[in-house]
Amino acid sequence: MTFLFTPHSTSAIPLQGSDHVFPVHRIYCVGQNYSDHVKEMGGDPRENPPVFFSKPSDAVVIDNKPVTYPPATSNLHYEVELVVALASGGSNISVENALAHVLGYAVGIDFTRRDLQAEAKKQGRPWDAAKGFDQSAPTSAIRLVNGGNHPLEGTISLSVNGETRQDAKLSDMIWSVPEIIRELSLYFELKAGDLIFTGTPAGVSAVVAGDQISAEIEGVGEISFELVSN
Ligand code: MN
Repeated sequence: MTFLFTPHSTSAIPLQGSDHVFPVHRIYCVGQNYSDHVKEMGGDPRENPPVFFSKPSDAVVIDNKPVTYPPATSNLHYEVELVVALASGGSNISVENALAHVLGYAVGIDFTRRDLQAEAKKQGRPWDAAKGFDQSAPTSAIRLVNGGNHPLEGTISLSVNGETRQDAKLSDMIWSVPEIIRELSLYFELKAGDLIFTGTPAGVSAVVAGDQISAEIEGVGEISFELVSN
């Protein structure tokens, strides 16, 4: 078999303290996983349980490279999220076994065309154009889980031009990381190389070209990059 043209290369993410890189298979995302964010979006956490969507694997941007302001929006929002990187997968994974599949964690930004998402929600249409666009998933290097140390209790924060906009605790998640893995594995066969963006806390808002976006998760790492005009 000969490819008609050269296949696109696989996205890869650096690992802290290793020369190896993590080849990205799929990017799954959880929406509405922090109560305060559900409320700021006009929802009710009791009536709007977390939801899954996805991004293309080539949406990742690594090494703090600048991100180009995307077309077709005038309301681009940042969302800082804990990213789970899987070393293995499967279907119907139990909560008890879920963390055994985790290779490590990273800091990610789930960029969102909020104007398109609001319109999609209103019309009951898919979120792909609002969430799955080019460069919509900047991701830090992955911190490997060492000796079963899963940093799932620390602070998660984001600043724009040095001003803090999001500041919360990972323990505020509605679905914990083991619960997310369990739920996802009921719908999809998870695999090594999958990334899971686990949702954002309150404080989302619009950014413009020229803004410097920095985010940090305690015990995981940090990311900092400029949003540039197209
Ligand atoms: Mn998100």
